[in-house]
Amino acid sequence: MEVIRSVKKMQERCKALSNQQKEIGYVATMGFFHEGHINLMKQAKENNDIVVVSIFVNPLQFGPNEDYKQYPRDESHDTVLAEQTGVDLLFIPGVNEMYPKKMSISMLIEARANVLCGRTRPGHFNGVITVLAKLFNIIQPNRTYFGMKDAQQIAVVDALVSNLNFPIVLIGVPTVRETDNLAKSSRNVFLKDNEREEAVWLYKALTYGRELVVDGEKNPDIIIKEVMDIITKRTTGKIDYVELLSYPDLEPVTAINQQVVLATAVFFKQARLIDNLLFNEDGKINNRLKQEEIV
Ligand code: AMP
Repeated sequence: MEVIRSVKKMQERCKALSNQQKEIGYVATMGFFHEGHINLMKQAKENNDIVVVSIFVNPLQFGPNEDYKQYPRDESHDTVLAEQTGVDLLFIPGVNEMYPKKMSISMLIEARANVLCGRTRPGHFNGVITVLAKLFNIIQPNRTYFGMKDAQQIAVVDALVSNLNFPIVLIGVPTVRETDNLAKSSRNVFLKDNEREEAVWLYKALTYGRELVVDGEKNPDIIIKEVMDIITKRTTGKIDYVELLSYPDLEPVTAINQQVVLATAVFFKQARLIDNLLFNEDGKINNRLKQEEIV
């Protein structure tokens, strides 16, 4: 595995590989790897000749009061894990390498961004699409792999890829969970012991909401209220949102008669956790997406 820090060198390597007809699978990350990341890399390895992973904690996608500085980082451990997983190129650019000067172009995502995490994190998805447009141009992958844990991010990346005609196939990979079903996250290390125990109720509450749909409930307000009640009763966290929206357009629904995402974000003392379930009108889970299915 080669670690590359320069944009120019990365571009040259990737260009040479595609000239040799190698197919590139790409996983964008902010590092501090856990099994969720590793699983994306494994998927990329299965379907491509070359696996490229980037580690970049993108300042543009953090708000002024968010955890950019505190975001956990462990480059040497990540490098070992990436190597063990069979990654070919690990791209770790510094902030000055990615943004040598203030950008003179700013990107603004209009749809899919002002709900869920976008509502409480204004500008977040503008930062996400900006850095991904740059990374896609640098790496020019054939396929890119994103975790369903960030369902809104996949909807946003889908818009980026299709609106700007990136010749890249976007693939959504199921959320990897702890044995008690807490979604794996780099931020879980910030949970206090009691919060770690309570955090399982995010998934349990969402699952209860989905079961209501399986049992025939069609009213999103009822489902949202039930999910909120469970999280409020069972955790000390503060609910940021519980929303049920069409997927991938992320629009409000008055009745559940299409594919929807039921999603939540909860603030604990030092960590804001997110989780979601994607299911159809009968409550049947859909957790693997390919871009052709998303559009
Ligand atoms: P991050 O480093 O948090 O930006 O995540 C990088 C990629 O890993 C994103 O596509 C995430 O959706 C994905 N990811 C993070 N946590 C998980 C998880 N528990 N299961 C599957 N994918 C995940």
